[in-house]
Amino acid sequence: MRGDLLELSELETPELEAALEARGAERFHARQLYRWIYKRGVTDFDRMTDLSKELRVRLLADFQVSSPVVVSESQSVDGTRKFVLELRDRRQIEAVFIPDTPAMTFCVSTQVGCAMGCGFCLTGKMGLVRHLTAGEIAGQIRVLAAATSMLEYPFNIVLMGMGEPLHNYDQTMKALRILHSEHGLAVSPRRVTLSTVGIVPGLQRLAREPLMPNLAISLHATTEEQRTALVPPNRKYPLAEILETCRQFPLKKRSRITFEYVLLDGVNDAPEDARRLARLLSGIKSKVNLIPLNPAPGIPFERPPDEHVDRFAQILADRHITVSVRKSRGRDIRAACGQLIVEGGVKKSAAQQVALLMK
Ligand code: SAH
Ligand code: SF4
Repeated sequence: MRGDLLELSELETPELEAALEARGAERFHARQLYRWIYKRGVTDFDRMTDLSKELRVRLLADFQVSSPVVVSESQSVDGTRKFVLELRDRRQIEAVFIPDTPAMTFCVSTQVGCAMGCGFCLTGKMGLVRHLTAGEIAGQIRVLAAATSMLEYPFNIVLMGMGEPLHNYDQTMKALRILHSEHGLAVSPRRVTLSTVGIVPGLQRLAREPLMPNLAISLHATTEEQRTALVPPNRKYPLAEILETCRQFPLKKRSRITFEYVLLDGVNDAPEDARRLARLLSGIKSKVNLIPLNPAPGIPFERPPDEHVDRFAQILADRHITVSVRKSRGRDIRAACGQLIVEGGVKKSAAQQVALLMK
């Protein structure tokens, strides 16, 4: 790995075209390079056989393509596969492949750790270690698609791994543009869901994006007081403001905003909470995804009994709200929501170490 080489995995097609041109090469080679790297999973210039020998030599002198490296993989009884990936600076992140849901889905990270500190989330316990670059976010998809033999097939992407995507706005959006490139994986934004805790200025920017993913808002509570206790950024971006932004969010035909709601036993799972949630969502094209807590050592909450989950869902359904209960996949390998924390990784932050001690 050389610091003086231009990192090709960080470049969108127009940037790559400009970089080639600046080095006296033809712009159209960008398409070929994208095809090799994203469609065929080949990052070694020497194996790019439709490029002339002379061009390959020039590429080797000026560019490199780095990829996250799979350091371990575990498979759940339900088919979910969790990958621990190592980055250039040896930090580790996790990404998950969830088959047949009904589509094939990759769940990827946008940060190492997360600064938001939600009380029920293991990633939150790590604190923010660093943002991921666009190349690292897109690279997770590239590496997982190759590892699961999915390069040729359509798949969905959910930004629901480690991190808060709107806290790393520019790199997240750039990653989506890289993945959307027609010469690469050509992932349609309709197949991408961005899940956020609701950072209002980020939502307002997102509303103006030409490449707009589906939106999922992590709500989890129905009063300002309770939401601030569970989701600390609510102090700065209160529930009322998030919902107002959602009301004005430009939605494509037939599309709706998903509201995620983690159910915590005896905390936010009462019938009154469900009724309040229904009232809050009135006038918003929405659907609700209930997520019974995935408990973990060090998380001071319990998963509610199934009767409470059903009761909560029924109250919403009675009020004509589309509601689904998220089946927890990969719990046996800690690949379920909020369970993404790298164990045994290098350079742990103090928060990470504390989280591990509490396991
Ligand atoms: N930071 C973003 C995306 C990553 S978290 C967000 O918060 O939306 C993805 C989803 O997993 C969120 O809805 C989050 O609330 C949920 N989650 C976090 N910890 C969980 C846990 N222990 N059990 C169940 N869901 C959890
Ligand atoms: Fe961060 Fe999302 Fe976890 Fe909250 S739930 S700490 S925003 S990753």
